[in-house]
Formats: sequence, structure tokens, C-alpha cells
Amino acid sequence: MTNKLNCPVCGYTGIEGNNCPNCDTDLSLISILQELPILETSLPKSQVSRWQLVTAGLILLIGMGLGILSSFVFMQPQVMTASVTVPSPVIITTPNPELNSIAPKVSSQPPEPLTYTVKAGEHLSGIAEKFCGRGTSWQVMVEANPQLKGREDYIDVGEVFKIPNCKENTG
Ligand SMILES: [Zn+2]
Repeated sequence: MTNKLNCPVCGYTGIEGNNCPNCDTDLSLISILQELPILETSLPKSQVSRWQLVTAGLILLIGMGLGILSSFVFMQPQVMTASVTVPSPVIITTPNPELNSIAPKVSSQPPEPLTYTVKAGEHLSGIAEKFCGRGTSWQVMVEANPQLKGREDYIDVGEVFKIPNCKENTG
């Protein structure tokens, strides 16, 4: 492993050994330096990489600063528009309590009791047969209207009688 050296004094090339055969210059220091090429070449490279890192960091910082500034500039109109659009959903979600309270009252109204007004020439048996079917006794009408006891054959025209639940009474 013998490195050929170049004489820095006279320019002689291909020197084997530590002394220049042309000008007797001691080349031992040059040979030592050439045996450590990694350290000589790595130092400037690391310095360049550090500078690149520093410049890259500065560029990043500048970019971040510009980004923050641009975000502040662009966020201001967004905040203004957001404040304008906030009240609209509040108006939409306002409930109507009157509609909700009226609906169940209408549906829960009790049905009116079924009544019948006596017409001319009618008898209790006819009325019972009209609502409860043929063959129904007039007594179901008396059970539903206790005021008829004792005068079953003398009902008046225009009298209002309650119509009994025929299915319960005939069963
Ligand atoms: Zn020389």
C-alpha cells in the first residue's frame, strides 16, 4: 500500500516515498494528510450540511410565519360570515307549543253518548228493534232509561232516550 505523491514544490508526479527525487522535499506530511482523506473531505461536507440545515430551518420558520400571517388574514372574513350565519338555525329550531298541545286534546275527546229522540207513533219495542236488532225486547230500553218504569207504553214524542249497549244486555 504505497501512495504515489505529487511534489507541491516542483510538480513532480508519481513519487514513491517521503522525499521528492527531483528537489529532495520532505513529503512525509503530505503522505500523512493523504492517508486521512475521510476526515479532510468529511469536515467541509458536514459544514455544508449544517448550513443547509440552518437555511432549511430558516426557510421553514419563514414559511410558518407566512402561513400564520396568511391564516390570520383569511380567518377574519370566515369569522365574520360565521357570526352572520349563527342566528338562522336558532330560528328554525324554535318549537310551536300550541300545535303540540291541541292535537292530543282533539284525539282524546270522549264520544258523545248515543241517544234517540222519539218520533210520532213509535213504541219502545220499535226503538229497541231499530238499534239492537229484530226480536230485541223493549226492556233493554227501560234498563238504559230507568225513568220509563211504570209507563213503558206511554212515551212522549220528542223524548230523548239513551241507546243501551245491546251486545252486553242481550248476551
Ligand atoms: Zn520536488
